[in-house]
Amino acid sequence: MSQQPPDAEGVPTAVFHMPVDPHVHLRPDNDPKDHRFEAVVPVVASYCQIAGAMFNFENPPASQARRARYCIDAQELAAQAGYPDFRVFGVPLLNDNYRRDDIARLADEGVKSVKLMICGTTTGSSHGVSDLRTLKQRGVFREASKHGMIVQVHCEEPGAHPLEAEYEAWNKWLKQLIIGNPDLTAIVEHVSDHRTMEGIEEIGRNNVFASITYHHLVLTYSMIYNADSEVIDPNSITKPIAKSSESQGYLIHTILTNPQVIVVSDFAPHKIEDKQCVNPASGCANFPAGPLLLANLLASYDAINYGGKNLFNELTSRRAATIFGNKPEDRYRLEYRPGQTLIPETASSGTTVVPLWLGKQTIPNRLVRVPYDPKRHEPV
Ligand SMILES: [Zn+2]
Repeated sequence: MSQQPPDAEGVPTAVFHMPVDPHVHLRPDNDPKDHRFEAVVPVVASYCQIAGAMFNFENPPASQARRARYCIDAQELAAQAGYPDFRVFGVPLLNDNYRRDDIARLADEGVKSVKLMICGTTTGSSHGVSDLRTLKQRGVFREASKHGMIVQVHCEEPGAHPLEAEYEAWNKWLKQLIIGNPDLTAIVEHVSDHRTMEGIEEIGRNNVFASITYHHLVLTYSMIYNADSEVIDPNSITKPIAKSSESQGYLIHTILTNPQVIVVSDFAPHKIEDKQCVNPASGCANFPAGPLLLANLLASYDAINYGGKNLFNELTSRRAATIFGNKPEDRYRLEYRPGQTLIPETASSGTTVVPLWLGKQTIPNRLVRVPYDPKRHEPV
């Protein structure tokens, strides 16, 4: 009997840590009309070890006890689905009621970061901040600086043209906020415009970071809308929207060269009916596509190992773990293997509520979550 050839698909070409992703949307956990939480938590858990959950939805959990419950619910759900190591931390959304004392209290309660989003920017942002000046006058950002609390900023100007909204917000208020608070640790979230990135790099502060999403690295505006402004791909509509190929090229350059940058998912699933309609909802569900597309992108630049470091790990786990002071449990690895990945039409079997970005397309190579094996894998 002839021997079977070795399984070429079983041999990883690279091995990665499970991502630490400080920007995901797991959706409401207690809305009887909305079953996205149950559908998406296992999907996120299969591509993240630690996730920061955003609370920009109706009736966000207002107390720390309630936010903690939300995180435990997500972890229990993940454990039932076979992801016992999945950990979630909550990111409270700042609003007009916040005072210095609230920040001090959150810091006492162990909250590591808060989200700053101006009302009217995107989904659920009506619970955000309408008057940034008042928050500044009350010393909210000075207090956050004092406690080393990170401010994760959605940088878009409400009502502006989608292609200009980010840069307008950067110029109008975010640049000043950052310059005026030199001790504030800030992450400018999901940077999509090369002008914003250049502005962040010009300030060049080691406590100011930029996050870039998986989808902004591979999308441009012309892949989502045609020349008549008709939607070609509703699943890829996000806020901020993907920009020009010039911006996309600059974001790729940035992940290769700038150590102040992390890659996040901004995983934001919607129901099929909210995407396949006249005004599709903003947000894309970029697992399982995102991390694989990043690995393929880095591989295409021969940059998975760059400057003596595993750049995929730097971008998706190591830097975020350092910024947020997280210690990943490191019980699993993502093996990058040859083969093909078929992106499914829905997030998990038995549900039709969550279309995944790039539904039904095939992407080269695979990322396979496997238990950490000291014989096969490098230690942390
Ligand atoms: Zn988001």
